[in-house]
Amino acid sequence: MDRIGPDLLRLIGGGFAAPHLIMGDVPTLVDAGTAGRGPTIERELRASGIRIERIILTHGDPDHAGGSDHLRRVTGAEVCASLAERPLIDRSGWPSLPRLRRGLMKAMFRGTPPPTVDRWLEGATTVNGIDVIPTPGHTPGHIVLAWEGWLLAGDAFVSGQRFRESPWPFTIDRLSARRSIEMLLSRAPRGASSSHGRPAERASERLQVLVESWR
Ligand SMILES: [Zn+2]
Repeated sequence: MDRIGPDLLRLIGGGFAAPHLIMGDVPTLVDAGTAGRGPTIERELRASGIRIERIILTHGDPDHAGGSDHLRRVTGAEVCASLAERPLIDRSGWPSLPRLRRGLMKAMFRGTPPPTVDRWLEGATTVNGIDVIPTPGHTPGHIVLAWEGWLLAGDAFVSGQRFRESPWPFTIDRLSARRSIEMLLSRAPRGASSSHGRPAERASERLQVLVESWR
């Protein structure tokens, strides 16, 4: 586990997409790794003596939601996701996905059932001090979480030395994704850590450079 801030950690065992951990009043895991990675994340948490009580999914892609059911079962954590993401998570919306995306979802969930969600979050809201920010684009109900000036960006963009857009073949609505990034910039974040890129400080500056690339 890597420490990003006093109460903010980044896990290493999630597979393709890094889960994060917010150690607020209610220890909250942000994303749950790839299908099959639940036990790895469970071990990583246990080794640090951390007992999560909540899981918030940034979106329904298999590398973020695949380990969720396992972790829910072994920890009793409440699983939350955006209501706008429901068709992707319960799979009722899969038939309307682009064919490549649908095939990838199917393959990566490896025959597991749709992840159970205990609580659907509506619009912009706050969960135990964590800001939930709707950021449609990569998926229709994608959310970014903000905590102590940091954005946990999921796949809204890719953080690192230089911020990038998420690869467009995996982005369902690229125009909305750009609008979402512009909106995140307006929050003047201090740092950002996405699921597929390294955590970085000076997020406002880096987002500004990204936004200017299409303006
Ligand atoms: Zn994704």
